[in-house]
Amino acid sequence: MRFFGFRGGVHPPENKLQTENAPVEELKAPKMIYVALLQHIGSPLDPIVNIGDKVLKGQKIADSQAFMSSPIHSPVSGTVKKIEEHVFPLMGRIKTVIIENDEQDTWAELPKIENWEAADKKELLAMIREKGIVGIGGASFPTHIKLNPPADTKIDTLLLNGAECEPYLNSDNRLMLEHPEKIIKGIQIIKKILGVETAIVGIEENKPQAIASMKKAAEGTGIEIAPLKTKYPQGGEKQLIKAVLDRQVPSGKLPSAVGVVVQNTGTAAAIYDGIVNGIPLIEKVVTVSGKAIANPKNVKIAIGTPFSYLLDYCGVNREVVDKLVMGGPMMGMAQFSEEAPVIKGTSGLLALTKEETNPYKPKSCIGCAKCVDVCPMGLEPLMFARLAAFEQWDKLPPYNLMDCIECGSCAYICPANRPLTEAIKIGKSKLRAMKK
Ligand code: SF4
Ligand code: SF4
Repeated sequence: MRFFGFRGGVHPPENKLQTENAPVEELKAPKMIYVALLQHIGSPLDPIVNIGDKVLKGQKIADSQAFMSSPIHSPVSGTVKKIEEHVFPLMGRIKTVIIENDEQDTWAELPKIENWEAADKKELLAMIREKGIVGIGGASFPTHIKLNPPADTKIDTLLLNGAECEPYLNSDNRLMLEHPEKIIKGIQIIKKILGVETAIVGIEENKPQAIASMKKAAEGTGIEIAPLKTKYPQGGEKQLIKAVLDRQVPSGKLPSAVGVVVQNTGTAAAIYDGIVNGIPLIEKVVTVSGKAIANPKNVKIAIGTPFSYLLDYCGVNREVVDKLVMGGPMMGMAQFSEEAPVIKGTSGLLALTKEETNPYKPKSCIGCAKCVDVCPMGLEPLMFARLAAFEQWDKLPPYNLMDCIECGSCAYICPANRPLTEAIKIGKSKLRAMKK
C-alpha cells in the first residue's frame, strides 16, 4: 500500500495496551438515564415527550426542524421523570431528558430497510437521519448531511477513518476486531449513497489484528484496507486524506473540495445497524482507562449513562484522579463533574493521575519553533500564545488560526509548557465574535 504521510505530527505514549485486548463488555443501563438534548454539531433539539410519559427503547424523544440537526431516541424503556438543565460534558449545563429505566428493555417499533440495495439515495439518507446517526468519532456532524454534498461537488472516493490515533482509546479498534462485517456492510451502503467506486479504510499499523480482521471481512468487496504509519494526528480528516491519497485540502475548505468524503468506521457500523436492523444510535462503545482505573475496559453502554456509573464499574480510585477526560488525552474535554452523561460523541473516559497529566508550570517561550515543526496544518502556534498574552486579537487573521484542528500536538511538544491550547480556543472564539 502506498503511504504518502503528512506534515508534522507527534508520537505521544500510546497507552493502548491496557484495553487493546479487552473484548467489549455490554453493560446494563443504570436506573436513571440523562439524555442531553444536544448530541450533534448544531442547535439543541426540542423534546417531543413530556414529564410522566412512558417511553420505549429506541423511541424518538427529541427532534428539530433545523437543517443541521439529528434526532435523539430513548436508550431504555421507562418513564420520563424530568426535563431540566443537567451537567453536560462539552460545556456547563444543557436541557436534558431524565428517564427512569424500567429495566424491561421494551423496544419501540423500529422502521428499517432490510433490502437496502433496492432503496434509493433519498430513502437511505432519510433513514440515516431518522436513526439519529452522527459522526461518532467525536465531531458529531449529522451523517445524513455529510453524505449529501452539494450536487455540483464531484466525490470520487470514500475514505474510512480507522486510525484511532488518540492514545488510550480502543473503541474503534475493538469494533474492527469484533464486528468488521458491520463496518464493511455500512461502507457498501455509503458507497451506494455517494455513488462512488473507491472506498479505502485507513488503519494505523499499531493495530495489526484490526487490519487483518478488516482485510478478511473486505475480501471480494473491492474495499481497500490501507495500513498507515502510526503518527498523531493521523485520524484528522485532512491528514488522513493527505496520507492515503496525497491530496491537500485547501485552507478553509472541506474534504469534498478534493473529491473525498471521510467517515469514521464506527459511523459506518452505526449506519448498517440503523438501516438494516432499524436500531437508532442509542449506545456507544467507550474505552474507560487511565492509571486511576483498576480494571480498564471497553464497554458498550447506553447514551445518557452518568460517567460515575462507568467509573465505578471499572474500579476507579478517586483519591488519585488528577483529571477526568472525555475522549483521548490530546483532544478530549476535561470534566468537572462525574455526573455528566455519555453522549453520541463519547469514545473514551480517562481517569488520569498526576503522573499522566504533566502538571508543569508554563515558562517563557524559548523560540525553539518545535510547535511549528509538529503542526500538521503548517501554522505558527507560538504566535497564537504571544498574541493572546497581549490580547492582540486584531493581529490574528494572517495566522490562519481557524485552520487549526485543535489536535494538541503543539502543546504536547512545547518544552516551555506554554498554554497553547487555551490561546487557540480563546483566539478562535474572538475571531468568530469579530466576524459577527
Ligand atoms: S496549532 Fe492547532 S493544528 Fe497546529 S499543532 Fe497546535 S493544535 Fe494542532
Ligand atoms: S514550542 Fe513552545 S517554547 Fe518552542 S517556540 Fe513553540 S511556544 Fe515557544
